[in-house]
Parts: sequence; structure tokens; C-alpha cells
Amino acid sequence: MNLQELVRPNIWSLKPYSSARHEFEGQADVFLDANENPYGSVYSRYPDPLQTELKEKISIYRSIPTGNIFLGNGSDEAIDLIIRIFCNPGMDEILILPPTYGMYKVCADISDIKVKECLLTPEFQLDLAQIKNSLTPRTKLLFICTPNNPTGNLIEPGSIEKVLQVFNGIVVLDEAYIDFAGPGQSWLDKLSRYPNLIILQTFSKAWGLAAIRLGLAFAAPEIIDLMNKVKPPYNVNLLTQQAALRSLSEYEAKKSREISEINSEKMRLMNLLEAREEVLKVYPSDANFLLVKFSDPHYVFYHLRNAGIIVRDRTNTPLCEGCLRITIGTPKENQLLIETLNSMV
Ligand code: PMP
Repeated sequence: MNLQELVRPNIWSLKPYSSARHEFEGQADVFLDANENPYGSVYSRYPDPLQTELKEKISIYRSIPTGNIFLGNGSDEAIDLIIRIFCNPGMDEILILPPTYGMYKVCADISDIKVKECLLTPEFQLDLAQIKNSLTPRTKLLFICTPNNPTGNLIEPGSIEKVLQVFNGIVVLDEAYIDFAGPGQSWLDKLSRYPNLIILQTFSKAWGLAAIRLGLAFAAPEIIDLMNKVKPPYNVNLLTQQAALRSLSEYEAKKSREISEINSEKMRLMNLLEAREEVLKVYPSDANFLLVKFSDPHYVFYHLRNAGIIVRDRTNTPLCEGCLRITIGTPKENQLLIETLNSMV
């Protein structure tokens, strides 16, 4: 991989915005440099643009140097930045592997980047031969989601390894749901081996903090520097930084308990659903949701909706025909789901 050639020339030459908080980082008593309101509350000052304290905490928690960490306004921001850093509009391509998370294509479409698609196999694994055929000299990025949304399965590590070896561009591994997959499944501890790897994670799923909008990207420091160069100056607000710091110090045990509970509820729900006549298949899941194939998915969808239960219709997604994606709720919510299905005529 040649980072010099992969990154857009205008990004290399970009002179980034230098904020007031960036230019002065030491101790002082009077800050008259950022046009803030001097009478304001604790929120009157701009936050740390590089989220130093939070990154230090994450660095310890994930055993990874701070220089390998980017923080964004959700991992959606990281997806958008990565596309804008590497792909020249109207010229370059990304490769995505449907059925998968929708934002890779949306962000590329917004930036006028061509999206090539290579379906997963019927077992929702990588089709290595097709992937190889689909790569062109203009393919800058390949997105792999593991565990995959909406199918729920982990992508086999051996095939990810092969892709990392054959592809000269950047492989983005989206690990949004990795905490549900059990220990040892994340690629984070292998990051230093692959200069062309970016790993995405998020506080929106297992941490239960979707509302604060905090996403993470882990990569070689050269790539992280580019992401920091392109991001808006204060992309992670103070409230978010504070909430995440608090969760990391106080709620790790709570998070672990919730993951265990969600995973055991997932198995319970899976067994109950598999026993049902209208259920054709429940796909194995390493995430916090189940992909379920129904004989009449629209009938089930509207029946649940009329009872106030919303699930995700994936029937129009390739390889997911007839499928609804059901997030694992609390035991009470899951019970209500089953009782509502029982009440179908
Ligand atoms: N990646 C995947 C696979 C997702 O499912 C989602 C959200 N549904 C995201 C990324 C975006 O997460 P965030 O809330 O961090 O923007």
C-alpha cells in the first residue's frame, strides 16, 4: 500500500483550519481568543478539539496508543471522513459487500464516488473470487462489517486476512457490534500489522450511548493524522466527552452485565422464534439483533406495528428476502414480542 498515492492530492496539500483552542494549549487566566461569552456557564468554552483526556482513557481501556485513535460524531462521521480523504469525486470507487450497513453507500453517493457491490455468499461470508474480480486500480476503499448488519454474523477472519493481503487500498472493518461477539473477535490487537486497516467502533451499541454520538476509528497514526486534519474543529462536544469519560470509569461492569443479558435473551428468543410455524429461518447472530425469515414478513411487520412494536423491514435487501431484523430488547419487551406473535391469526 502506498498512502501517498491513495490519499487525494488536495487532502495532502490542505492547510487545515487552526482553531483558537488548537493554537494555545497551555495554562492561562484570561481567554480572549475564541469569541466566547465570558459570562457563560461551564459550557461557554469550546471543548478540547482532540479530546485528549478521553483518548487517554480509551487508550488504556483498549490497550492502544492515543496516536492510533480518532473520535468522531458517531462512526458515521468517520465513514464520511474516510471516503472524503481517499476518494476523488467522479473518479474513484469503493467496494461494499451487501447485504450490509447502508451508510457506506450513502456517504459515497453524496461525495459522487462510484459504489461497486459484491454480494456476500449465501452464508453471508466474503466471496473472495468475486471481490478480487471487482477490484480495479480506482478502488480506494473496501468496507467489511463484522459482525455484519443486518445479518448479524462475524466475517471469517481468514478471509479478511486474505483481503488485507491482496488489496492495495484501505480495508475498513466496521466493528460496531463487536462487543456482543465475545472476547478475541476484534481485530484491534492486530492493527499494527496492517498499515492499510481502519477499524471502526462505536459507543452507540454495547455502551448504550447512541444519543451522545461518539464513534471511534483506529488506524496507523498517518491515517489518524489525516482524519484529524479534515474533521470539523470541535467535532465531539463537551457533553459527549464527559459522558463517555464517566461511562468508561463507572459503567464498565454495567455494560458487561447488559451484554450477557442481551446475549442470553438472544438465545432464548432464537429458540422461541425457531419453533414457530411462520418462521422459516433465524440466522445465527454475534450481534444484538436477529435476522429472521418469515413466510409472510409484511403481515408480521404490520401486526407487530399495530401492537406498537417496531422492527426493521429488510425484505428489499439482497439475500434478505422475507427477512425482518429484530433488535434484542429487555426480557419484558422480548416477551411482549412473542406474545404479540402468538396473538396473530
Ligand atoms: N456501523 C454499523 C454497522 C451500524 O449498524 C451503525 C449504526 N446502526 C453505525 C456504524 C453507525 O454508528 P454510530 O451511531 O456510531 O454513528
